[in-house]
Amino acid sequence: MTMEAPDATTLPGWLDNLRRKAEDDGWTTTIWGEIASLPLLALTRSARCTEAPRVYLSAGIHGDESAGPLAVDRLITTGVLSRAVHWTVVPLLNPIGWIRRTRENAAGVDLNRDYQFMKQPETRGHAAFLRDRPPNDLFLSLHEDWEVSGFYLYELNGSKYPSIGTAILRAVESIVPLASEPTIDDHTLAEPGWIRHPVDPDEPEKWPEAIFHQRQYPHLSYTFETPSSQFPIERRVDAHATGVDAALREFLRASTSQ
Ligand SMILES: [Zn+2]
Repeated sequence: MTMEAPDATTLPGWLDNLRRKAEDDGWTTTIWGEIASLPLLALTRSARCTEAPRVYLSAGIHGDESAGPLAVDRLITTGVLSRAVHWTVVPLLNPIGWIRRTRENAAGVDLNRDYQFMKQPETRGHAAFLRDRPPNDLFLSLHEDWEVSGFYLYELNGSKYPSIGTAILRAVESIVPLASEPTIDDHTLAEPGWIRHPVDPDEPEKWPEAIFHQRQYPHLSYTFETPSSQFPIERRVDAHATGVDAALREFLRASTSQ
Protein backbone atom coordinates (compact mmCIF):
# COMPACT_ATOMS: atom_id res chain seq x y z
CA MET A 1 0.00 0.00 0.00
CA THR A 2 1.37 3.39 -0.93
CA MET A 3 1.59 5.84 1.89
CA GLU A 4 -0.30 9.04 1.23
CA ALA A 5 -1.18 12.19 3.11
CA PRO A 6 -4.92 12.42 3.88
CA ASP A 7 -7.19 14.69 1.87
CA ALA A 8 -10.17 16.80 3.00
CA THR A 9 -12.38 13.69 3.18
CA THR A 10 -10.01 11.41 5.02
CA LEU A 11 -8.28 13.85 7.40
CA PRO A 12 -10.94 13.75 10.17
CA GLY A 13 -10.68 9.94 10.27
CA TRP A 14 -6.87 10.14 10.24
CA LEU A 15 -6.91 12.51 13.22
CA ASP A 16 -9.44 10.31 15.08
CA ASN A 17 -7.33 7.23 14.53
CA LEU A 18 -4.16 8.96 15.73
CA ARG A 19 -5.92 10.24 18.80
CA ARG A 20 -7.52 6.91 19.66
CA LYS A 21 -4.29 4.96 19.29
CA ALA A 22 -2.38 7.57 21.29
CA GLU A 23 -4.90 7.53 24.15
CA ASP A 24 -4.77 3.71 24.22
CA ASP A 25 -1.01 4.05 24.77
CA GLY A 26 -1.21 6.51 27.66
CA TRP A 27 -1.18 9.84 25.81
CA THR A 28 -3.47 12.72 26.73
CA THR A 29 -5.08 14.71 23.93
CA THR A 30 -5.52 18.46 24.17
CA ILE A 31 -7.48 20.31 21.52
CA TRP A 32 -5.97 23.78 21.57
CA GLY A 33 -7.80 25.20 18.61
CA GLU A 34 -10.03 24.52 15.66
CA ILE A 35 -9.63 25.52 12.07
CA ALA A 36 -12.41 24.96 9.49
CA SER A 37 -14.02 22.42 11.88
CA LEU A 38 -10.76 20.48 12.17
CA PRO A 39 -9.22 20.08 15.64
CA LEU A 40 -5.73 21.39 16.34
CA LEU A 41 -4.25 18.67 18.52
CA ALA A 42 -1.49 18.21 21.01
CA LEU A 43 -0.55 14.87 22.56
CA THR A 44 1.26 14.81 25.88
CA ARG A 45 2.62 11.99 27.99
CA SER A 46 4.52 12.18 31.27
CA ALA A 47 7.49 10.07 32.27
CA ARG A 48 7.32 8.24 35.59
CA CYS A 49 10.18 10.34 36.97
CA THR A 50 9.19 13.98 37.41
CA GLU A 51 12.82 15.06 36.90
CA ALA A 52 12.90 13.47 33.41
CA PRO A 53 13.80 15.73 30.47
CA ARG A 54 11.06 17.40 28.47
CA VAL A 55 10.92 16.81 24.74
CA TYR A 56 8.82 18.66 22.18
CA LEU A 57 8.03 17.35 18.69
CA SER A 58 6.03 19.15 16.01
CA ALA A 59 5.19 18.67 12.34
CA GLY A 60 3.02 19.87 9.51
CA ILE A 61 3.40 23.64 9.79
CA HIS A 62 4.06 23.68 6.03
CA GLY A 63 1.21 21.85 4.32
CA ASP A 64 3.24 20.76 1.29
CA GLU A 65 5.70 18.80 3.47
CA SER A 66 3.81 15.57 4.00
CA ALA A 67 6.44 13.32 5.54
CA GLY A 68 6.52 15.08 8.93
CA PRO A 69 2.96 14.42 10.16
CA LEU A 70 3.05 10.91 8.68
CA ALA A 71 6.26 10.22 10.64
CA VAL A 72 4.68 11.54 13.86
CA ASP A 73 1.65 9.33 13.19
CA ARG A 74 3.92 6.31 12.76
CA LEU A 75 5.98 7.09 15.88
CA ILE A 76 2.87 7.51 18.03
CA THR A 77 0.72 4.69 16.68
CA THR A 78 3.52 2.10 16.79
CA GLY A 79 4.28 3.01 20.40
CA VAL A 80 8.03 3.41 19.89
CA LEU A 81 8.53 6.79 21.55
CA SER A 82 10.62 6.67 24.72
CA ARG A 83 8.81 6.58 28.05
CA ALA A 84 11.83 8.11 29.78
CA VAL A 85 10.91 11.70 28.88
CA HIS A 86 7.95 14.04 29.24
CA TRP A 87 6.51 14.54 25.75
CA THR A 88 4.63 17.36 24.08
CA VAL A 89 3.75 16.43 20.50
CA VAL A 90 1.93 18.67 18.02
CA PRO A 91 1.33 16.38 15.05
CA LEU A 92 -0.19 18.79 12.53
CA LEU A 93 0.09 22.56 12.87
CA ASN A 94 -1.45 23.50 9.54
CA PRO A 95 -4.25 21.02 8.67
CA ILE A 96 -5.78 23.23 5.98
CA GLY A 97 -2.43 23.63 4.25
CA TRP A 98 -1.93 19.89 4.51
CA ILE A 99 -5.14 18.91 2.75
CA ARG A 100 -4.59 21.63 0.13
CA ARG A 101 -0.90 20.67 -0.22
CA THR A 102 0.12 24.32 0.25
CA ARG A 103 2.97 25.69 2.33
CA GLU A 104 0.71 28.43 3.73
CA ASN A 105 -2.53 28.31 5.73
CA ALA A 106 -5.98 29.23 4.34
CA ALA A 107 -5.14 32.96 4.61
CA GLY A 108 -2.03 32.45 2.47
CA VAL A 109 0.31 33.05 5.41
CA ASP A 110 3.51 31.09 6.07
CA LEU A 111 2.84 30.16 9.71
CA ASN A 112 6.51 29.45 10.23
CA ARG A 113 7.22 33.19 9.89
CA ASP A 114 4.33 34.30 12.10
CA TYR A 115 5.61 33.59 15.61
CA GLN A 116 6.64 37.08 16.61
CA PHE A 117 3.30 38.79 16.09
CA MET A 118 1.06 35.69 15.85
CA LYS A 119 -1.55 37.15 13.55
CA GLN A 120 -2.95 33.76 12.55
CA PRO A 121 -5.33 31.60 14.65
CA GLU A 122 -3.00 28.59 14.36
CA THR A 123 0.08 30.38 15.76
CA ARG A 124 -1.93 32.27 18.40
CA GLY A 125 -3.62 29.12 19.67
CA HIS A 126 -0.37 27.18 19.59
CA ALA A 127 1.49 29.83 21.60
CA ALA A 128 -1.37 30.01 24.14
CA PHE A 129 -1.22 26.22 24.57
CA LEU A 130 2.57 26.33 25.04
CA ARG A 131 2.40 29.12 27.62
CA ASP A 132 0.76 26.70 30.06
CA ARG A 133 3.41 24.01 29.50
CA PRO A 134 6.79 23.79 31.25
CA PRO A 135 9.92 24.62 29.17
CA ASN A 136 11.37 21.85 27.01
CA ASP A 137 14.95 20.57 27.03
CA LEU A 138 14.89 19.24 23.48
CA PHE A 139 12.91 20.61 20.52
CA LEU A 140 12.40 18.54 17.36
CA SER A 141 10.49 19.74 14.33
CA LEU A 142 9.90 17.87 11.07
CA HIS A 143 10.02 19.66 7.71
CA GLU A 144 10.78 18.92 4.06
CA ASP A 145 12.68 20.78 1.34
CA TRP A 146 12.06 20.01 -2.34
CA GLU A 147 15.14 21.87 -3.58
CA VAL A 148 17.90 19.83 -1.94
CA SER A 149 19.82 16.64 -2.71
CA GLY A 150 19.58 15.05 0.71
CA PHE A 151 18.62 15.29 4.38
CA TYR A 152 19.82 18.18 6.50
CA LEU A 153 19.12 19.68 9.91
CA TYR A 154 19.22 23.04 11.61
CA GLU A 155 20.81 22.94 15.04
CA LEU A 156 20.10 25.79 17.47
CA ASN A 157 21.64 25.45 20.87
CA GLY A 158 21.15 28.07 23.54
CA SER A 159 21.48 25.41 26.24
CA LYS A 160 24.02 23.57 28.34
CA TYR A 161 23.34 20.32 26.49
CA PRO A 162 25.98 18.84 24.20
CA SER A 163 25.18 18.61 20.49
CA ILE A 164 23.56 15.37 19.32
CA GLY A 165 23.78 16.30 15.63
CA THR A 166 26.37 13.67 14.74
CA ALA A 167 24.26 10.81 16.13
CA ILE A 168 21.17 12.02 14.24
CA LEU A 169 23.02 12.37 10.92
CA ARG A 170 24.77 8.98 11.23
CA ALA A 171 21.39 7.30 11.78
CA VAL A 172 19.53 9.16 9.03
CA GLU A 173 22.21 8.61 6.38
CA SER A 174 21.46 4.89 6.49
CA ILE A 175 18.03 5.80 5.06
CA VAL A 176 18.68 8.79 2.75
CA PRO A 177 21.94 10.56 1.81
CA LEU A 178 22.88 13.80 3.54
CA ALA A 179 22.65 17.12 1.67
CA SER A 180 26.03 17.91 0.16
CA GLU A 181 25.32 21.46 -1.01
CA PRO A 182 27.86 23.97 0.38
CA THR A 183 25.01 26.34 1.31
CA ILE A 184 21.22 26.03 1.69
CA ASP A 185 19.04 29.15 1.92
CA ASP A 186 22.17 31.25 2.54
CA HIS A 187 23.26 29.02 5.42
CA THR A 188 26.66 27.36 5.21
CA LEU A 189 26.69 23.66 5.92
CA ALA A 190 29.30 22.96 8.59
CA GLU A 191 29.51 19.43 7.18
CA PRO A 192 27.12 17.44 4.97
CA GLY A 193 23.59 17.77 6.34
CA TRP A 194 24.43 20.12 9.20
CA ILE A 195 23.51 23.82 9.58
CA ARG A 196 24.51 25.38 12.88
CA HIS A 197 22.07 28.23 13.20
CA PRO A 198 22.26 31.14 15.64
CA VAL A 199 19.41 31.46 18.14
CA ASP A 200 18.32 34.64 16.33
CA PRO A 201 15.92 34.74 13.37
CA ASP A 202 17.18 35.26 9.80
CA GLU A 203 14.60 38.03 9.37
CA PRO A 204 14.06 40.07 12.56
CA GLU A 205 10.25 40.23 12.41
CA LYS A 206 9.56 36.83 10.91
CA TRP A 207 10.13 34.31 13.64
CA PRO A 208 9.83 30.63 12.79
CA GLU A 209 8.55 28.18 15.40
CA ALA A 210 12.09 27.12 16.42
CA ILE A 211 13.11 30.72 17.15
CA PHE A 212 9.92 31.35 19.10
CA HIS A 213 10.70 28.41 21.39
CA GLN A 214 14.34 29.47 21.71
CA ARG A 215 13.24 32.97 22.74
CA GLN A 216 11.12 31.59 25.59
CA TYR A 217 13.85 29.49 27.22
CA PRO A 218 17.26 28.03 26.30
CA HIS A 219 17.20 24.45 24.96
CA LEU A 220 18.66 22.17 22.31
CA SER A 221 16.79 22.41 19.00
CA TYR A 222 16.76 20.41 15.75
CA THR A 223 14.69 21.05 12.67
CA PHE A 224 14.86 18.09 10.26
CA GLU A 225 14.49 18.60 6.50
CA THR A 226 13.94 15.63 4.18
CA PRO A 227 14.55 15.94 0.41
CA SER A 228 10.99 15.74 -0.90
CA SER A 229 11.71 15.76 -4.64
CA GLN A 230 14.39 13.05 -4.41
CA PHE A 231 12.81 10.13 -2.59
CA PRO A 232 9.39 8.51 -2.23
CA ILE A 233 7.29 9.39 0.80
CA GLU A 234 7.99 6.07 2.56
CA ARG A 235 11.74 6.77 2.63
CA ARG A 236 11.28 10.33 3.89
CA VAL A 237 8.92 9.19 6.67
CA ASP A 238 11.46 6.54 7.57
CA ALA A 239 14.24 9.18 7.64
CA HIS A 240 12.26 11.41 10.01
CA ALA A 241 11.25 8.54 12.30
CA THR A 242 14.84 7.26 12.39
CA GLY A 243 16.14 10.76 13.15
CA VAL A 244 13.70 11.23 16.04
CA ASP A 245 14.60 7.85 17.49
CA ALA A 246 18.35 8.57 17.20
CA ALA A 247 17.90 12.03 18.74
CA LEU A 248 16.11 10.59 21.78
CA ARG A 249 18.64 7.83 22.35
CA GLU A 250 21.61 10.16 22.10
CA PHE A 251 19.99 12.95 24.12
CA LEU A 252 19.16 10.54 26.96
CA ARG A 253 22.65 9.01 26.82
CA ALA A 254 24.44 12.36 26.72
CA SER A 255 22.29 14.11 29.33
CA THR A 256 22.48 11.28 31.87
CA SER A 257 26.27 10.78 31.46
CA GLN A 258 27.08 14.43 32.19
ZN1 LIG B 1 9.03 23.55 6.14
